[in-house]
Amino acid sequence: MASALQISGIRKTFGNGDKAVEVLKRIDIDVAPGEFLILVGPSGCGKSTLLNIIAGLDEPTEGAIRIGERDVVGVPPAARDIAMVFQSYALYPTMSVADNIGFALEMRKVPKAERTKRIAEVAAMLQIEHLLDRRPSQLSGGQRQRVAMGRALARQPQLFLFDEPLSNLDAKLRVEMRAEIKRLHQASGITSVYVTHDQIEAMTLGSRIAVMKGGVLQQLGTPDDIYRRPANTYVATFIGSPT
Ligand code: ADP
Ligand code: MG
Repeated sequence: MASALQISGIRKTFGNGDKAVEVLKRIDIDVAPGEFLILVGPSGCGKSTLLNIIAGLDEPTEGAIRIGERDVVGVPPAARDIAMVFQSYALYPTMSVADNIGFALEMRKVPKAERTKRIAEVAAMLQIEHLLDRRPSQLSGGQRQRVAMGRALARQPQLFLFDEPLSNLDAKLRVEMRAEIKRLHQASGITSVYVTHDQIEAMTLGSRIAVMKGGVLQQLGTPDDIYRRPANTYVATFIGSPT
């Protein structure tokens, strides 16, 4: 089957001349339809830069990105059929939860009746039906994160991108939301790329894991592969494999 996402020979350099820093050094990853791929590695290793390049928020210095059949380098983010969830929820403060979830649909001129139906479906999936009339300021952190996911889900994107969406939550909520994200992925089947620096999150959520360090892909494999057959001592130490 064709890849849902193809990352080919991606390099990224910030700055010029003496100040040039290469933060991605030829990254190749193929993501299969329905996969939940984790990008994991320490802070500063290039995870967000790679995700931003997939999203079109940044362009690569070299290499190609294909989403489905389409070459998307140069295509603006809004035309890439993706949805992104960040740690900052960025909800519209003056709109109700329902309007926040439906906003992207309204922009796309989806008729009101269908919008209402989709908002209800998404709210049911996330168990936030009782919150639809509230404003973001009237929600807890976990509830805001659910709304942010609802907003992304409502659009039924081809690709879901997550950049450390749980890092602002307390430990208990993080565990809860992890399970929620897993459930949503199973229910929606939408191909996802999820960035985290948290090894446990990576091991519990990923169908495959890409371990990065200093802009270099160290290993790409299932949680079991990575744990049992780490490619090098860096991966073994980072994941905490028995040695
Ligand atoms: P991660 O998400 O893994 O923590 P990032 O992708 O945010 O890492 O950053 C990778 C490296 O690129 C870091 O050294 C960071 O300082 C640098 N970097 C990120 N964005 C820029 C930018 N716009 N200009 C210059 N350097 C940047
Ligand atoms: Mg980051």
